[in-house]
Amino acid sequence: MSKLSLDRILQSQGFGTRKYCRELIDDGEVSIAGEVMTNYKTTVETEGLSFRIFDEDWQYHEYVYIALNKPANFECSRKPSHHPGVLTLLPEQFSWRDVQPVGRLDHDTTGMLLMSDDGPFIHAQSSPKRHIPKVYVATTAEPVSEELIQKLMSGVQLHDEPAPLAAQVCRQLGENELEIVLEQGKYHQVKRMLAAAGNHCAALRRTAIGQLTLESLGLEEGEWCYLGAEQMALLV
Ligand code: URA
Repeated sequence: MSKLSLDRILQSQGFGTRKYCRELIDDGEVSIAGEVMTNYKTTVETEGLSFRIFDEDWQYHEYVYIALNKPANFECSRKPSHHPGVLTLLPEQFSWRDVQPVGRLDHDTTGMLLMSDDGPFIHAQSSPKRHIPKVYVATTAEPVSEELIQKLMSGVQLHDEPAPLAAQVCRQLGENELEIVLEQGKYHQVKRMLAAAGNHCAALRRTAIGQLTLESLGLEEGEWCYLGAEQMALLV
């Protein structure tokens, strides 16, 4: 339980500088349970708090944990160079409160991307020590063969890696479609492993992180949702 003044609450949720948040409150833009709040010094319990601002309902979150179904042609970088950044797919408040992608997907990879402003969570989730499985569906340029699956399962050598990298699971889904589960998160790993095994990745989608599947979230491409405690517990 913690109480904060209204201006601090708005600032913490990404609505702007403290000065700007005070102005919003002075202007009558903020209400709680139907009551317009005009004194920015009013302290409010943050746990479970919902408020209305700019005629929209907002829920207070100390930290946000978000899953996005990333479309192609968006960059995960905070300073995108050739395509818009994934943050442009979220409400502006999330940029203000320093929400960032947890790891990276290539600009042309689609599917599940986690985003958060909780530094320790981002760090833990990206740590190679945790061996969190990530599930990808790759469309291959050449038909999938038993030999390709064997190579990916036994390990392929990438030029800048000290040892061969192997898939945890690899199974054929269609003539040119392969599900591949990796526990590492190396640069362009799926694409480079497929190339090293003699095929080529024509399209790539991440369908799950840990036990949390994109399907269970029911998100269309470009849509996002908050993750609740039950979903967070599946990220292992
Ligand atoms: N592997 C890749 O090659 N690209 C991604 O975006 C993710 C994993």
